[in-house]
Amino acid sequence: MDREWMFVDRLDSRYREGVEYFVRHAMNNAENVEQLFCPCVKCGNNEYVDAVELESHLLINGIDKSYTRWIWHGEDVLPTLCSNLADDSDFGGEDFDENVDRVDNLINDLKKSAVDPSEIEMFDRLSGDAIKPLYPGSTFTRLSATLKLCYRKAMNSLGVIDTFLGYLDSICDQQMYGFLCPEIISQIGYASDEAVTILSKRMKDLKKKFYIAPYYDDDHWMLVVTDVADHNQVHWFDSLGKSVPSKLRSLINASVRVYGYNGGERMRSQAPQWLQHNCARQQGVVEYGYYVMRYMLEIVTRSNPTKPINEVFQDTTPYSQEELDEVRDLWANYFLNI
Ligand SMILES: [Zn+2]
Repeated sequence: MDREWMFVDRLDSRYREGVEYFVRHAMNNAENVEQLFCPCVKCGNNEYVDAVELESHLLINGIDKSYTRWIWHGEDVLPTLCSNLADDSDFGGEDFDENVDRVDNLINDLKKSAVDPSEIEMFDRLSGDAIKPLYPGSTFTRLSATLKLCYRKAMNSLGVIDTFLGYLDSICDQQMYGFLCPEIISQIGYASDEAVTILSKRMKDLKKKFYIAPYYDDDHWMLVVTDVADHNQVHWFDSLGKSVPSKLRSLINASVRVYGYNGGERMRSQAPQWLQHNCARQQGVVEYGYYVMRYMLEIVTRSNPTKPINEVFQDTTPYSQEELDEVRDLWANYFLNI
């Protein structure tokens, strides 16, 4: 069965059938059918439930749409494992070590059976990552750190981006930059009117020049940066070069307008001007948010009152592996120290 049902409306019969299929699949692959991980948007594979609860959670709360590779329900964890970072603040303990061992063995087994040179190379890199410390003196290897992050919320990059916003907030000029929650911007679990209310209030309360807001849709991260206090502009970054989704444009425009009504800023008679930038473009389709993380890093470290954002981004050359690794390492170091 394909997984399109995960993305249709919960009231749709295809969704209900999909849930039934998922519950059967989970039971068939479980060691203990009383303890199934629940991938609903509230549990996020962090809670055990039985089959009845699993079904009702998925019907009532909805399934976490980012959970497309069902690794907590019997599906192979590779090859996407190490491309993904995901958060889980209460990981750890025996389960985690067990999983590290399991994946270690899995990598070895897969490497033995690999025929394609690129596959063999990937497994070599994975084994290399397994023993290389995350940074000098770290007791974490890259693989164990990555696994730690993948643990349970394997496909959820939202937590990664959220954590990275924490990092950026700790290093940026806080008078200039504020951050808007990606869940709200992306309307994940928020209705649009609710999102407008929260965003406009946040802009009014925080009084920053710029609001940096990662936006997630269709398995892809994009970035919006508002500059409405002085310039009534909104900057748009997409590593695939696509134009602004209308749903997002309406949300930001409405939030800016409500923020104006509430006295946050003098009333604008016009909607903000949207500017699309020549930012680095990714070549593959797989990126898991690193491009957006890099854009945000560039903005808070390189733009300033004399160097506007548009001057920071002037070409579409893809980021190098080092530039993306730098982001990953900054993130991981921050994460391991919070
Ligand atoms: Zn649940």
